[in-house]
Amino acid sequence: MLKGKTAIVTGSTSGIGLGIARAFAGAGANVVLNSYTDNDEDRRLAEEIAAEHGVKTVFIQADMSKAADCAALVEKAADAFGPVQVLVNNAGIQHVEAIENFPPEKWDAIMAINLSSSFHTIRTAVPDMKEAGWGRIVNIASAHGLTASPFKSAYVAAKHGMVGLTKTVALELAEFGVTCNAICPGYVMTPLVEGQIADQMKAHGMDRDEVIRNVMLERQPTKQFVAVEEMGATALFLCSGQASQITGTTISVDGGWTAL
Ligand code: NAD
Repeated sequence: MLKGKTAIVTGSTSGIGLGIARAFAGAGANVVLNSYTDNDEDRRLAEEIAAEHGVKTVFIQADMSKAADCAALVEKAADAFGPVQVLVNNAGIQHVEAIENFPPEKWDAIMAINLSSSFHTIRTAVPDMKEAGWGRIVNIASAHGLTASPFKSAYVAAKHGMVGLTKTVALELAEFGVTCNAICPGYVMTPLVEGQIADQMKAHGMDRDEVIRNVMLERQPTKQFVAVEEMGATALFLCSGQASQITGTTISVDGGWTAL
């Protein structure tokens, strides 16, 4: 479906981004993996995906908190595989603290990585997409792009901002064959989340199932995590020909969270 197309997934050495990168490679795209890190493991991951799916991949180090790195990522991707046609803005971080104690430097970092990076990658990728008359931009927002939770001021603000950016970009590109949408996941089972289960079991004196059901998935009516493969499949659908009229919208993959 994406055979030979250049696809970037930011923050794709782990979790959701990695799931989407694998799904795109499975659909024939040449995939650019990215993280702020730069180690052998990152490059091995890219090689492994290439070998598994018979596509080209490359790992490009870029810190999404830096505007220049965001633009350079898009430029280097185009140098490697040709103009970028699929862009997934996925890199993100979290910090949980009451507003009056929320460290300003954490606010700035979350705004930079979770929101401004998308502005910088999109503005750099759009000229080639417009010229090609085809492009797909998928922003990984969150249920927190549509609703709020206490103690997550920066994250909720950034994700709401990402939804606003999605709508604006969609309108600007509507007549150029380029779509822009946001996926709003609830809790997704990623290494990050898995790592928190043991801590929560200790803190609450609960077993694994109780922690998952009563603590982590308290707001997710299905009481099940979203799988990274489900995120990959949703992103892939948004990049398909059948999704050409889906633009400027949010797709919730949240087990019913936002229906509450
Ligand atoms: P993760 O921590 O497993 O992966 C995050 C990725 O981003 C990693 O590859 C990391 O290296 C990269 N990254 C972090 N800071 C970066 C930076 N400065 N520059 C470049 N790369 C950077 O997290 P995840 O759970 O897979 O989350 C991915 C996205 O999905 C985030 O935007 C997150 O907000 C969103 N999300 C996650 C969940 C969830 O439950 N896991 C729910 C809703 C939304």
